[in-house]
Amino acid sequence: MARKLTRLGLFGGTFNPIHYGHLRAGEEVAEGLRLDALWFVPAAVPPHKAPADLTPFEVRLAMTKLAVGRHPRLQVSDIEGRRPGKSYSVETLRLLRAELGADTELFFVVGLDAILEIQTWKDYRELFTLCHFVVLDRPGFPREEVGVVLRREVHPDFRELADGQGFEHPSGCRVLWWPTTLLDISATRIRALVRAGRSIRFLLPEGVRRFILKNKLYR
Ligand code: ATP
Repeated sequence: MARKLTRLGLFGGTFNPIHYGHLRAGEEVAEGLRLDALWFVPAAVPPHKAPADLTPFEVRLAMTKLAVGRHPRLQVSDIEGRRPGKSYSVETLRLLRAELGADTELFFVVGLDAILEIQTWKDYRELFTLCHFVVLDRPGFPREEVGVVLRREVHPDFRELADGQGFEHPSGCRVLWWPTTLLDISATRIRALVRAGRSIRFLLPEGVRRFILKNKLYR
């Protein structure tokens, strides 16, 4: 009997801290793409970011779990905390590909800002043979650049899909636009507000806000 095809979304990030920009986008992608599950995957050692106020992995993981709660589809994975060194997405994807097998379709969710810098990721060309990408708009970043970057940096033969859905790599992996509610919230701004003693209410779940204040994070 044929095994059921599973659709799994992966939303990588620093999540320092997780906020409604991430959560609402995750919700809309999981629903819209009919994913069986979407995992938030905090990076243990983010390859691109080493801000002085990077809180330990366990703390970011705890906040992410608090934020997601008992959501039926959104989940949290500690996979990047289980190996030493920098948390390269390509290594996580290779591992999951090997573990889950070819019956699972993987959708890697990234913000527009992140895909525009794809050539700075480790083994970035290989990524486009391991998973589909789902690109979220972020205010202030140009969509038109994505096709240019993909063809220049990854593969010249990226094909444009009908109706502006996105692009397809010759491997069959797709880079899909997924319009979500634009929320101009960033973790950097949240940390700055905390440092300034200002309110972060309604930018992130209340449980996470309390956790930050109780544990005196980002002061
Ligand atoms: P920082 O401000 O510390 O750089 P961030 O708020 O951008 O953090 P990250 O953890 O770096 O959050 O983001 C993880 C992923 O989520 C990235 O792909 C990023 O583009 C995306 N993302 C972050 N904020 C939003 C938002 N408000 N709307 C949509 N996507 C977002």
